[in-house]
Amino acid sequence: MSADERTLIGWHSISVWTPADWVLAAVGGDDRSGYLRIDDQLMPRLQVKWSPGPIDLQRKREEYAKRLSGGGPVSLGGRVLRMVPVLGKSRRPAQLEVDTEARVLSQRAKPKKDLLGFAWRGRYCGMGVLWNCEVCERAVIAQVSWLPQERLHETAREVLASLEDHGTEGWRWWGLDGLSFLAPESYLMERHKRLSRHLEMRLAAKKGGSWLSVARWGMVSLVLEGRTVAEWFADHLSGRRDITWQSEEMPVKGHEGIAAWGAERGLSGGVRRALGRAVRRGGSAWTACAWHCPEANRLYLVESVEPESGEVLKAVVDSIICHEEP
Ligand SMILES: [Zn+2]
Ligand SMILES: [Zn+2]
Repeated sequence: MSADERTLIGWHSISVWTPADWVLAAVGGDDRSGYLRIDDQLMPRLQVKWSPGPIDLQRKREEYAKRLSGGGPVSLGGRVLRMVPVLGKSRRPAQLEVDTEARVLSQRAKPKKDLLGFAWRGRYCGMGVLWNCEVCERAVIAQVSWLPQERLHETAREVLASLEDHGTEGWRWWGLDGLSFLAPESYLMERHKRLSRHLEMRLAAKKGGSWLSVARWGMVSLVLEGRTVAEWFADHLSGRRDITWQSEEMPVKGHEGIAAWGAERGLSGGVRRALGRAVRRGGSAWTACAWHCPEANRLYLVESVEPESGEVLKAVVDSIICHEEP
């Protein structure tokens, strides 16, 4: 996969690079333990399950191989994968050959993880890994599947090699539908909205009241309706009772944009009165940044409430690639 053919998907503790046409199709659980499935148009491609570790890797692999040998595709999430039409009408279990000696990833490719691999061949083919991570103490089991004629071995290895279950230096990647960004590792998913032209993820710190919201709109002309980004921003936030703010128009990533700062209402009156001065020196500050990327026809809004004014906001905005430079 070259850079323009791949996309970063990040959800809870898991991040992975996949081919660009693979999308997050099913999710469950949380940062501690959960499940995700990534599909392309044809079929489920990658499934990942994470839980507090360690697990007995050998035993888990044997159990898993047994389930696979029972025929048909196995879902890590406990549900049977949907049958795809291209396979024809037959639903009888097919013979599967499971290879528990398969070398999927080298131990060197995943330092600090105790790792085993497996592969299978039948009506579906696939390979997977399971590991115990020394760093975050999570156990992960992941598999990539394909149809025999597709021969996706190399892609599967690349995807599994890129799979990670914890962040780096306190930050981790989140990514959904082509929008990826770095967030503090201590932030957990609070809620998200996923519509065809609008995507929004709100993360919040485990404690302390800090939060972060990243939103993206497509078909920007329909969103702006002739307004500038600054005019849209003012209208967009006009109904918000939770913040008081002021703003300044400025280019963001070379695009028309706006930066804003203020405070959450409900903070002490002193903080509110001193808005614009005091929030820079202490107390939880609200900061935001919006911009319009005409190259990708997208509008972005990032908001952050944090004690260190703007540090998280800046890191998040910096990490977003709104369009690829030619
Ligand atoms: Zn880990
Ligand atoms: Zn851009």
